[in-house]
This record gives sequence, C-alpha cells and structure tokens, in this order.
Amino acid sequence: MPTSRPRRRPDTRGARLAVLDPATGEQFDEAPDQRPDELDAVVDRAHAAWLGWRANRAVRTTALLAAADAVEAAGAELAPLLTREQGKPLAESYTEISRTAARLRYFAELDPGTLPITDGRPVRSEIRWRPLGPVAAIVPWNSPLQLASAKFAPALAAGNTMVLKPSPFTPLATRLLVSVVASALPADVLTIVTGREPLGARLASHPGIRHVTFTGSVATGRSVARGAAASPARVTLELGGNDAAVLLEDVDVERIADRLFWAAFRNCGQICMAVKRVYAPARLHSRVVEALAERARTVVVGSGLDPGTRMGPVNNIPQLERVERWTARAVADGARAAAGGHRLDRPGYFFAPTVLSDVPPDSPVVTEEQFGPVLPVLPYRSLDEAVEAANGTGFGLGGSVWGTDVERATAVAGRLECGTAWINHHAELSLAQPFAGVKESGVGIAGGPWGLYGNLSPFVVHRPEETWS
Ligand code: NAD
Repeated sequence: MPTSRPRRRPDTRGARLAVLDPATGEQFDEAPDQRPDELDAVVDRAHAAWLGWRANRAVRTTALLAAADAVEAAGAELAPLLTREQGKPLAESYTEISRTAARLRYFAELDPGTLPITDGRPVRSEIRWRPLGPVAAIVPWNSPLQLASAKFAPALAAGNTMVLKPSPFTPLATRLLVSVVASALPADVLTIVTGREPLGARLASHPGIRHVTFTGSVATGRSVARGAAASPARVTLELGGNDAAVLLEDVDVERIADRLFWAAFRNCGQICMAVKRVYAPARLHSRVVEALAERARTVVVGSGLDPGTRMGPVNNIPQLERVERWTARAVADGARAAAGGHRLDRPGYFFAPTVLSDVPPDSPVVTEEQFGPVLPVLPYRSLDEAVEAANGTGFGLGGSVWGTDVERATAVAGRLECGTAWINHHAELSLAQPFAGVKESGVGIAGGPWGLYGNLSPFVVHRPEETWS
C-alpha cells in the first residue's frame, strides 16, 4: 500500500529574518524579511492615510494619548520580548516602555501654535505649520522602542504618517509596539517594515517620502543622506557619539564612582551618549581606574531575564567582534586591563566589563566609538590638555564634567564641543530639551518643540497694510 506523505503547505509568508537571543546566541524567533519592492505599496498607503490624519489636531491628540495608554498596558508583553532580542536587563526594558508612553503624551499635547512675525514694517505676517507627508524612520538596535518612539511621537503629532524600519537585529519588540500603537490610530498612519539591506537604503531614497529621520552610525548616516538627496526629502540624522567625561582636581572619586560607572556601562555600553572615555587628573588617575575596575569586576553579568542581572550581553556578533578587536589592539599597544579585557566563557555574546588604563591616546578604543562594555581612563596634566583631548575626535554628541565646585565644573562644561553637557551626571535627557549632536554626531534637531517643528513645514500668511480692515 502506498504510504501517503503529508503534503507540505506552500509557505506564503515570504522570506524570514532569524532573530537571535544574544544571551544564548541561538535563534528564538523570526520576522518578515521584506523586499525593497514592497515599499511602493506601503508608502502609497502611508500617503493615502496622511490625507485624513493631517486634517485635525484634536483627533490626533486623542488618538496619541490612547496609544500611550495602550503601550503602558502592553508593558508586561513588550518588556520580556525586548530583553530577549536586545539583551538588556528587564528593568531597562520597562524604562524604554515608560519613556515611550511619556513621549507619546508629551508630543500629543505639544501645540506648534501660530507665530506672528514683527519686523517693524506695516505688514501682518504669521507662521502657521503644516505637516510634511509620509516620513521614513530608520533606527538601530540598542534602544529599539525608545528610539522608534522618538521618531514616531513627534512625526505623528505633527500630522505626518510614518514608515518605520527597525534594525534586523531587533525587529520583534518594535513590531509588537507598532501593532499596539497602531491599534489606537487610523489604518496606515504608522507602519513597520522589517528586513535586511537594501530595505533601509531604498526607504531612505523613496520618492514618496518627505522626511527621512535616521538614528545610527555616522557611516550609514552619510549614505542615508546621499539617498534622501535624490527625492529630495528633509533629513534628520542622530549619529554616533564618543562622549568624554572630564574629572576635575576636586572630584570626590568614591562619591561619583557608581554614577560614572553606570554612565559608561548601562545597556552594556551600547548607548549613543554613554561615557566612552574618562579623563582624570594624573594625581587621581590610579584611584579612578581602581574605583571603576572594582565595580566592573563585581557587577552581575547575565541574561537580562534573570532578576539579579545588572548587565546583559552585547547585542550582536559584529558588535562583539568590534569590541574584542579594539580591546585586543589597545592591550597589544601597551594598555592594561584593570578589569575584564576578554569574552566571557559561556554561550551568548558576553564580554567582561572592561576598564583600561595606559591606553595610547590614538588607540581606536579612544578615538572611535566602541559602543560596548569597555572604558579607557586617560590621565591628564593640565585642564587645557583635557579639554583639547575631549574635543579632539570627530564626534560631538555629549560630554560631562565632574567636580565638587559645581560653578567651576559648569564653566569647564561650556568649553566642550557637543550638543549636551552634564555636570556630575551623564546622559540624562528631558523630553522638552533639544537633542542635537554637533560635528559628525548629527544633523538637525530632535526633542522638545524643535523635534515637532522638524516634522513641520512653515506656511507664512503675509498681509500688507492695505489688506487690513
Ligand atoms: P547602523 O548605522 O549600522 O544601523 C542603523 C539602522 O540603519 C539599522 O536599522 C540598519 O538596518 C539601517 N541601515 C544599515 N545600512 C543602511 C543603509 N545603507 N541605508 C539605510 N539604512 C541602513 O547602526 P547600528 O549599529 O544599528 O547602531 C549603532 C549606532 O547608532 C552607534 O553609532 C550609535 O552611537 C548610534 N546611535 C545614535 C543615537 C543618537 O541619538 N545620536 C542613538 C542610538 C544609537
């Protein structure tokens, strides 16, 4: 008797993208690997949805506030998924979710208003603000939800629609987030596409897109800007950082050590504005190295899903290899690993929290963005030398100054070439502040009212005196 073999159903789901758990290195799920030629239909639908969405600000406010509630309600589902694909401790995933909800509420209620223009002439002019159309957002894998919401909250509040592309390393939590947010919005106001390159490149250069807002590395940012020039679309680039922390002579090392450590190692160092270099007065250098190294040696590293974990794995293999390569190069060139310096001998992408001293100042771990759990601590002899070194890279995202005399520290902070500087702190941001890097760290302004105006076009109504009644 012939054996009947079960008939295989044709796979109608299209190509898939494997999603790995960085704590194990194993695949745990998958996402659609969409083709660039699918974008035409997606952008067309975003354009059709824009015609309704742009019409009424009050309707948008109500919908975005409802979306914020929905995000909070989905926290228990979103957080473990984010931790699983990104690696960060669960508490940090919850922080991303609460900031996403807060950002939706902030922009939902931010009114761009109408501005009168007065220049002394008998003319009544006013600026009104109009949305741009469909916006493309492309974001990286380090804080997927927060960075996605930093794009869609102002863009949608302004009356645009959005096509969002997360990193192929972290598509899942963002897909879930978009489905949650979109459930409170009209169809096609917020759409997600996932897949490998050239999906992002094609999205950035799509002729139907009016604004490309990108967060990621400097090299990709340049390529995105070139692509967007073809349409041409407005471009906002939030790029890499190599933030310096400058410690002053009067710094209380023990008092600041915890805060400084976490400013460098939170999210395993994978934060654009993490402290990536420390400059310490030569007299205090070994104490600073030891205080940070002690914390690096004792921090609990593990799966972000384990309740005791304070630091998770590096997110992906290319990133892990970069951290490993630059650390090995620094050590080969004479650096000393006061803590760490190597991968951890366990499955997954774990790198031991590493504090380096005696690092040559031209080592890539100093001059480039390591974006991982490795921190070089460099000595300086004069403050001018420290400020010059802090400003001596192509980056200009953030920076900080640490000392007991806060007025003096504030004066030194004023000499840093960056978009945001902190005193005895690092990487704390307000939703209401402008967020913009200088030099290679960015183009355009995100955050606060500036982020809203970045998603709007001014429309000027100009009335000369003879039209006044
Ligand atoms: P990346 O530049 O490799 O990728 C960012 C995004 O761009 C991803 O979605 C990726 O798939 C996509 N992409 C890749 N090639 C593309 C192309 N040719 N055209 C269009 N899109 C393309 O960056 P990453 O490794 O995912 O993220 C780390 C970088 O992001 C770091 O440099 C970090 O400092 C930066 N970052 C900056 C900020 C900020 O606000 N300034 C915030 C977080 C991260």
